[in-house]
Amino acid sequence: MITPSQRCRFFIILMLVCTFGAWGVDKTTAYLIDEEISRHIQEIIKLRRFLHMNPELSQREFETSKLVASQLLSMGLEVKTGTAKTGVTGLLRGGQPGVTIALRADLDALPIQEATALPYQSLNPGVMHACGHDIHTAIALGTAQVLVRLKDRIRGNIKFIFQPGEEGPPAGEEGGAALMIKEGVLDDPPVWAVIALHVWPDVPVGRAIFTSGPALAGADGFEILLKGRGAHGARPYEGIDAIVLASQVVLAIHSTLSRTNRPDDPAVVSIGKIQGGVRSNIIADEVRLSGTARTLSEVNRTRIERLLYDISDGITKPLGAQFELHYNRGTLPVYNHPDLADILLPSLRSALGKNNVSPHPPQMVAEDFSEFSQRVPGFYFLLGVRPAGAQAVPPLHSPGFNPDEKSIAVGIKAAAHLLLDGLATQHRMKD
Ligand SMILES: [Zn+2]
Ligand SMILES: [Zn+2]
Repeated sequence: MITPSQRCRFFIILMLVCTFGAWGVDKTTAYLIDEEISRHIQEIIKLRRFLHMNPELSQREFETSKLVASQLLSMGLEVKTGTAKTGVTGLLRGGQPGVTIALRADLDALPIQEATALPYQSLNPGVMHACGHDIHTAIALGTAQVLVRLKDRIRGNIKFIFQPGEEGPPAGEEGGAALMIKEGVLDDPPVWAVIALHVWPDVPVGRAIFTSGPALAGADGFEILLKGRGAHGARPYEGIDAIVLASQVVLAIHSTLSRTNRPDDPAVVSIGKIQGGVRSNIIADEVRLSGTARTLSEVNRTRIERLLYDISDGITKPLGAQFELHYNRGTLPVYNHPDLADILLPSLRSALGKNNVSPHPPQMVAEDFSEFSQRVPGFYFLLGVRPAGAQAVPPLHSPGFNPDEKSIAVGIKAAAHLLLDGLATQHRMKD
């Protein structure tokens, strides 16, 4: 968690930013970044296509991990493999002393059969990079490639974190950001702040969106088991109909939530699965409801868990039925530290052009980057990947998802500026 002393440091940084005025890397560095990007972009796009053709599922990113490690080694970085099983880190030590900032990318793909008809579509049946993590990995490798050349100008260290299992480890396994952190990815050298991005098809390529504070929702899962009593379909009065109980519970959840939730603290509850019943002429004795709850605050999270309990209790009790609620607290909200945002948002604007960065309302999707942003200040932005002129494009997690590859150069530029500016801020603070 962020300590009061960290808050104090941020305040000092903020004052320095105000004192120093305009923000951003110097002109020569900005020129060198652009030059390095144009020098390497074709090979990075080739690498992204290779990753796209060879997607691997969460916590099974064996070949992807090997490829990333060999790329980082060839750049001369200090490489560590095997964190959270398939995670990789590359440490770039700058020419001048300073703190360590991190850039995090995720490695895993989804169990989706690709339907893009691209010449480089997935060769792995039923598995696809439909969340753009191939783009994230390519951007992080590209950023490392660019910054290696600028090593002497770097005041501190940059840790490139390649995380497995962002979409969630297989049932019963540990993985993802939480396991990487547990195994020490934020230590040795300790990470001061962490940056990440996600491709975003609602936004045109060349642009980015960012919001300070809670940016993405926390995601919890729940299951409600409603226990009635079976009977003949012709004699329902001899049983307790679990299907009727389930129908009432579903409707009560949605109507109660819409009437009780504050519009300034959004929450979404969806029940995606109902299982129950045996055949058409038997009164079902049990029905299981499975759903997800998305919230931006702890208050709402606790409130929804209570609401699910009270509704189930209120509906089952009068009829003599019973229920079990299993509420599983999952991913926390992604939190963009407001003080870090004050420092780095001008840097993002300076990299992409001030009219190309705009705010966004919190999104109800979830991301385990939250594990990082709960421990050290985080900066997480959404990178436009919609091709210029396109009105609607296939969404994330769909078989047709096809981000514009021009976003790779944009992402590398943004990441390089943010990392260098972040470190420069810390350096100035120490002067
Ligand atoms: Zn995803
Ligand atoms: Zn994703």
